[in-house]
Amino acid sequence: MNSIEEFNSLEKKESYYPRLVEELKRANGEFHAFNLINEGIRAGFPFSAKDNICVRGFEATCSSKILKGYVPNFSATAVSRLGSAFGFLGKTNMDEFGFGTFGINSEEPARNPFNSDYVTGGSSSGAAAATALMKYHVALAVSTGGSISSPASFCGVVGYTPTYGLVSRYGLIDYGNSLDRIGIIARSAGDVRHTCGLLRGTDRYDSTCVDHNVASDGKKTLFVINQLNEVLDERIRAPFESLLGKLENLGYVVKRVDLDIIGKAVGIYYIISSAEASTNLARYTGFKYGYQYGRFTEYYNDFFSNARAEFGIEAKRRIILGTFVRSASVRGKYYDKALRARRLLIDRMKGLLKDGYIISPTMPIKTPKIREVRELTPLQSYATDALTVPPNLCGFPHISFPFDYIDGMPIGAQIITDHFNDDAIIGFVEEWERHFKYRFKHNLGAL
Ligand code: GLN
Repeated sequence: MNSIEEFNSLEKKESYYPRLVEELKRANGEFHAFNLINEGIRAGFPFSAKDNICVRGFEATCSSKILKGYVPNFSATAVSRLGSAFGFLGKTNMDEFGFGTFGINSEEPARNPFNSDYVTGGSSSGAAAATALMKYHVALAVSTGGSISSPASFCGVVGYTPTYGLVSRYGLIDYGNSLDRIGIIARSAGDVRHTCGLLRGTDRYDSTCVDHNVASDGKKTLFVINQLNEVLDERIRAPFESLLGKLENLGYVVKRVDLDIIGKAVGIYYIISSAEASTNLARYTGFKYGYQYGRFTEYYNDFFSNARAEFGIEAKRRIILGTFVRSASVRGKYYDKALRARRLLIDRMKGLLKDGYIISPTMPIKTPKIREVRELTPLQSYATDALTVPPNLCGFPHISFPFDYIDGMPIGAQIITDHFNDDAIIGFVEEWERHFKYRFKHNLGAL
């Protein structure tokens, strides 16, 4: 029985939801998982939405000052599809507009429920932290280049990123339209299976959303890509090797292969994602959407440059980089080339995925402290996306699941499969969970 069915079968007192909200408000003072808590929740299995997913009547800020005060008058398809069996608990913290790997690009970074000195991962920082805090809860999260896997791994929970196009993006505030995906962070693969069954299906508001028969092929070969193994920190490599041994004992065959082009994925990703982000952010000029700069006597150019000064430093960096790579004089050298390289990467990875799954640790390093990542240069920070960017760039479904604990902090592995083969890897993680028990430090809302 997954925890959604379990929750539904349990007797709940009338005071359940108000008590949950109180406990959560207290915990949120330390962990900052939520930007907004819905004190009005009175029924249903609690779910949260990342703060770039619209929920009718609740402020959606993408953790950005530029959107402060924006209250959408409609809900994202993913939110409406959860239906009345689920209850909306709040909007979760994130890196501003999804730009980040650790959750620190937010006014008040979310903190890791295992130890609040440590990062949660990002950009769906609050979604993963909320999941690690609460016994009964699922999070709607979003990934563009790893934002579901990274925080799921650092917070010791399960993060599922579906095939691109399987879940409608209607009501999602865009980062990079060719990459963005709404997915799920939960405490088990069973909760993921239950929830994603409700989200899938075509949507007349999103023409990129397809209804595809999701085949489950149950393959037994696991590919480990040598080039990805090379970027691993020693302290991650040893536990990962022992995970591979355990999986071999479960009947999987591990094959080590070369895939040279995968080393280029981070570069390709930051060109394409910044190009798309810079056009998406062009709409925030201070005239519309939330934050009102207000000085209407200024000249037009001054007005909107001054309003746009409110973006955080990482958003500004993406705007500058993205505008540069698609400018007429260099476009062929960067943006067009990145698109061709992406195609090549998809073909090469697909070549492997027809015979098995690709497995790696989710993150190349163990969970860092918040003050440690503040010291990283942008390039050092982008480099930590080496393992999570490839499946995102290619639209492949993938799941991060906890597989070990180092110094009391969880570490996750990531399994990737071919397009529309999502159920196979959900099944893979369900099987893993029959042999490995996840640990949680908090169980808010336990019955
Ligand atoms: N770390 C990557 C970035 O900053 C991915 C983030 C995401 O998936 N939103 O772009």
